Amino acid sequence: MIEEYAKYVDSGTLKELEIIAKDLRGIKVLHVNSTKVGGGVAEILHRLVPLMNDLGIECHWEVIKGDKDFFKVTKKIHNLLHMPDGRSLDPEDVLTYMKYTFENLSYVDTDPYDVVFIHDPQPLGLVVKKRPGQRWIWRCHIDVSSPDEATWKFVESFVNGYDAAIFHIPEFVREGVRIPTYIIPPSIDPLHDKNREIEADLVESTLTRLGIDPERPIVLQVSRFDRLKDPFGVIEAYRIVRRRVDCQLVLAGSFASDDPEGEEVYREVIEAKGDDPDIHVLNLPPDSHLEINALQRAASVVVQKSIREGFGLVVSEGMWKGKPVVGSNIGGIRRQIINGVTGYLVNSNEGAAFRIKQLIVDEDLRHRLGRNARERVRHSFLITRHLKDYLIVIHSLLEGS
Ligand code: UDP
Repeated sequence: MIEEYAKYVDSGTLKELEIIAKDLRGIKVLHVNSTKVGGGVAEILHRLVPLMNDLGIECHWEVIKGDKDFFKVTKKIHNLLHMPDGRSLDPEDVLTYMKYTFENLSYVDTDPYDVVFIHDPQPLGLVVKKRPGQRWIWRCHIDVSSPDEATWKFVESFVNGYDAAIFHIPEFVREGVRIPTYIIPPSIDPLHDKNREIEADLVESTLTRLGIDPERPIVLQVSRFDRLKDPFGVIEAYRIVRRRVDCQLVLAGSFASDDPEGEEVYREVIEAKGDDPDIHVLNLPPDSHLEINALQRAASVVVQKSIREGFGLVVSEGMWKGKPVVGSNIGGIRRQIINGVTGYLVNSNEGAAFRIKQLIVDEDLRHRLGRNARERVRHSFLITRHLKDYLIVIHSLLEGS
């Protein structure tokens, strides 16, 4: 399996992975998050867990249990960690969070493992189960650089019980975190159906099936139906572009099982689309990897206009397909796009519209930035790099034991 990556990375990288992994044979690693489908965390774990096993490290993945009440609270925590929004965590929320955490303590068996990765705030409280000799790592996928302070304090009280924390970019590291901290950006898998090479015929037939005209420029944003992804800003930017050039807008999304707000946002997006036949709002099943792949390959310009973004895997996915990405100048998007080299960073709907139009009309520019974008992902955001970073962190944490 790991050798299949030789096509994308140099042989030294694969050798390096084998060397580090050899030292770790015999240990057991567990990843815990809150959903099997929907969103970037699940996307990564689906690929990373089998690869760790392939390298001879026993690795498992567990998903905590929760229902609408729990996920309503954890989505509120998620939003408040990204930014204050006028609400605050109330005692009811804290009680709900603790109640479900308590239930998950007996549901998720962490005891057999040497290393436990806890992803995001939903399963954070499980750390009270940490036993001597284990290493627990909090893997944060959220932009926590300017959160609602009281919500962060609640989260921080758990975080400092871990052995280490991992953030995507240095700007997300907060002063109150007193444990060893690592910076590891996420990654995409070039062998995943979402990213692998596919035939032009499949791209075209997918567009036709989805009712999109393959002959006209396509502006694409792929993301869960979530206000923080700013689908309304994308529609406004598209409308500005349409005053000058012809194009179609595709908003491809889905619901995540741990996000109770998705359906409401979907309805609002449909309303905002109005009767424009060139805006395609696609509500895709969560396993529509080939469809997303085809859409990203067919796009003239990929957009990610998020208001807050931990990383934004979709940015790397678009870049890997040789597309210039127009992305908000925030969080993890800023880490991926080199402004004017691999795409454009923008600060407003008007700015996004300006760059989208420029890229639609200038084919040379589009191809040059697209080529750079693919190289940037090859160098920095493939799963082999991610895996190596994780192995090094595990190695250094276990060394002290
Ligand atoms: N995704 C998908 N179908 C959708 C919307 C998103 O498969 O309808 C995938 C997308 O391709 C990416 C992941 O979900 O791999 C989203 O990760 P990202 O980091 O961009 O955002 P998150 O949802 O984690 O905030």
